[in-house]
Amino acid sequence: MNSLESLNSLLKTMKTILKAAGAQDHQLSVIPKEYKTKTLALAFDWLHDIYMSDDYAKVLKVWNLLPEAVWSNYELLGVTDLTEQRLLISESKGLLKLWKTNRPRLFINRQTEICENCEEKATFTYKDNFKQCSYCGTVEETNE
Ligand SMILES: [Zn+2]
Repeated sequence: MNSLESLNSLLKTMKTILKAAGAQDHQLSVIPKEYKTKTLALAFDWLHDIYMSDDYAKVLKVWNLLPEAVWSNYELLGVTDLTEQRLLISESKGLLKLWKTNRPRLFINRQTEICENCEEKATFTYKDNFKQCSYCGTVEETNE
């Protein structure tokens, strides 16, 4: 397993909890490209420290009080003021602070590139095995 795979695997494990704590969706990705080994190692250590933290455990504990489908339903129905939701918010403060402190810049799913289709310098959004040009909307595969 190379470092990018390890990093993505850890991020995948933590994604739901980080999102529940209020981390922004577009920051919960790593664009697949060449990174220095050191860059990846630092990012992994940074994320792993969060994973091992009490702040992460706190949010996980509240999250596990209810099945995931119930949390999804609350969001879908726009329910925001239940006791467990307030608990989730108050218990998320520490984790969110960790997530916002010294976060390596590779935790992002957008970057500026020249689009091969429209030839504009545009923002590309990466998702799964695709990237999309914000200017012309073209979707390209990112699999090598
Ligand atoms: Zn384009």
